[in-house]
Amino acid sequence: MIVIKTIQEIRDRVGAWKKEGLSIGLVPTMGYLHEGHQSLIRKSAEQNDRTVVSVFVNPIQFGPNEDLETYPRDLERDRAAVEEAGGDLIFNPEPAEMYPDHFTSFIDTTETTELLCGAVRPVHFRGVCTVVGKLFNIVCPDRAYFGLKDAQQFATIRRFVRDLNFPVEIVACPIVRESDGLAKSSRNTYLSPAERKAAVILSKSLNLGRQAIEEGERDAGKVIDIITASLKSEPLARIDYVEAVDFGNIQRVGRIQGETLVAVAVYIGKTRLIDNFLINTEEKQ
Ligand code: AMP
Repeated sequence: MIVIKTIQEIRDRVGAWKKEGLSIGLVPTMGYLHEGHQSLIRKSAEQNDRTVVSVFVNPIQFGPNEDLETYPRDLERDRAAVEEAGGDLIFNPEPAEMYPDHFTSFIDTTETTELLCGAVRPVHFRGVCTVVGKLFNIVCPDRAYFGLKDAQQFATIRRFVRDLNFPVEIVACPIVRESDGLAKSSRNTYLSPAERKAAVILSKSLNLGRQAIEEGERDAGKVIDIITASLKSEPLARIDYVEAVDFGNIQRVGRIQGETLVAVAVYIGKTRLIDNFLINTEEKQ
């Protein structure tokens, strides 16, 4: 597995592929790869001639009291995971390569970033959009792959790509889960054994909300109440948010109709976990 550290080398390598007429998929990640990331890499490898995986813990998307320093890193493990999933190359720049002195230009978004994680992590999406925009300009992929585990991130990237005319197709990939339902995440490694057991409450509670909708509930407040009550039954869980929003603009909905995102963020001990489901339903009379 080739690991490239500089923007110039990536440009040279990708430029040569483009000259050969090869299509290129990009999978942006922060590393410590698991089967969720690998599902994105696999899809890219299916749909493109070459797949670039970026492994970069992006400092500008972390707030001052977040886990930038402790975020898990293991490039050797990531190499094997990319290889196994059919990726061709890892781009693993140092922060100074991506953010030279006097770096002062950002991609800033509104609307889709007002609620959910955007409300509680003020610099987060500006950091995500800026690094993803830079990666698009560095790699010039035909397609880029994002997981619906981070559904607000997906909606936001889709929006800025449309608004700013980035010539890349954005592909959504479903959430990959552990056998008990916990969404796979690099941050799951922070959980103690007791917390790991407790963390199943996120998917369990979301399932109760989904079930209520499937049985005909259309009042978003009631669905949120069902999920909230279930989350509160777990003593190790502390709710950050439970929301139902329109998946297009990430604004709150009163009724569940059209494509709705139901999303939660919950602290299990000190670890903040997110999970969600998307549901597309017609209003029942
Ligand atoms: P991260 O390394 O956490 O920044 O994630 C990189 C990409 O992998 C993002 O597009 C995530 O949405 C996606 N991803 C992370 N976890 C999962 C998962 N459990 N299922 C599907 N995609 C995921």
